[in-house]
Amino acid sequence: MKILVLNCGSSSLKYQLIDMETEGVLAKGLCERIGIEGSRLKHQPTGKDDVIFNDYMEDHSVAVKMVLDALTDADHGVVKSMKEINAVGHRVVHGGEYFANSVIITPEVIEAIEKCCELAPLHNPANLIGIHACEKIMPGVPQVAVFDTAFHQTMPERAYLYAIPYEYYEKYKIRRYGFHGTSHRFVSEEAAKMLGRPYEETKTITCHLGNGGSVCAVRNGKSIDTTMGFTPLEGLVMGTRAGDVDAAVITFLMEKENLTPQQMDDILNKHSGVLGISGVSSDFRDIEEASEHGNVRAGMALDVFAYKVAKRIGAYAAAMNGVDAIVFTAGLGENSASTRRLICDYLGFLGVHIDSYNNSLRGKAVEISAPDSRVRVLVIPTNEELVIARDTKELLDK
Ligand code: AMP
Repeated sequence: MKILVLNCGSSSLKYQLIDMETEGVLAKGLCERIGIEGSRLKHQPTGKDDVIFNDYMEDHSVAVKMVLDALTDADHGVVKSMKEINAVGHRVVHGGEYFANSVIITPEVIEAIEKCCELAPLHNPANLIGIHACEKIMPGVPQVAVFDTAFHQTMPERAYLYAIPYEYYEKYKIRRYGFHGTSHRFVSEEAAKMLGRPYEETKTITCHLGNGGSVCAVRNGKSIDTTMGFTPLEGLVMGTRAGDVDAAVITFLMEKENLTPQQMDDILNKHSGVLGISGVSSDFRDIEEASEHGNVRAGMALDVFAYKVAKRIGAYAAAMNGVDAIVFTAGLGENSASTRRLICDYLGFLGVHIDSYNNSLRGKAVEISAPDSRVRVLVIPTNEELVIARDTKELLDK
């Protein structure tokens, strides 16, 4: 069985074609600037040279068509015909309270995803465009939706309710949803395997630290709390996102600077985080370099970031009454030994000790805690595409 995994953004489309016999990636790629001048498709067939197609992509239907053409191309393709693609798995950002699991896409599912558009106005409409484009270009091929929010639907009320008038939860469904669920699920399952323990009996704190970041408490295979909230703005300090701030700062700033809601939203989402504190960059590589060269604000940004992650780890150890393993994943979590060290240096009270050599290794799942560490610390590369493909296969097999 071959499954096409799609992650559609408003002007982009990422894809992987996965062979489920081996779980190997046959090809992957990215369409950029869809509907904008200068659109391009970068296609990376495994074992062959990368190729770039510069044809204009008017909309996502054209992009899906170009991806299928690339996948079946005589020179750059990896399958003979579209008929070899058995199903499509879509990453969908927001499933609201409708979806606690992945589902086969039906008209009712589409309707529910549409209802969640106001909760994720930048993402869900793009995901829907991708779904409709596939319906048009690949009629009859089953499609599955895998939601970023689904894994967190097991959170109890005490974790998801905000202390604002309850009527706003009832009226607008304002609550914590949490994101990166596919990643937290994958790495917490892998962590249990590495520990040699049943997933259903393991307490794990997973730290997905990328350009966006979130920490999740996974108790006995279920998310019981996570740092992102109603939107992916809450929680950790991120590349450009503020994370937690006193809500009064927002009205104060809007009044002082005469800002519209949209301008305030832009400040919190695009100009804050480590970029806002350091003034250097949103990319941790640039900030680490600037800090090494003596840039004080860059050093502060890294410390504020690490301190906040560590505080959440402490909070979640309390929430779960203990923790067996802490997992680092995503761009920063997988690659930055110094960030992992900064965070773990705050965790002495948990008996966390890091092995410097293992912490310096890159590119594979590895245990970085020292033998005397009371809590095991793991680095596990995330693989959201594989989870989407596996869920798609499982639903089709049923
Ligand atoms: P992601 O969103 O998971 O793709 O992560 C992207 C982020 O990971 C980038 O913005 C970088 O800040 C960070 N990152 C990737 N590689 C490294 C590295 N070698 N050292 C420090 N940060 C890194």
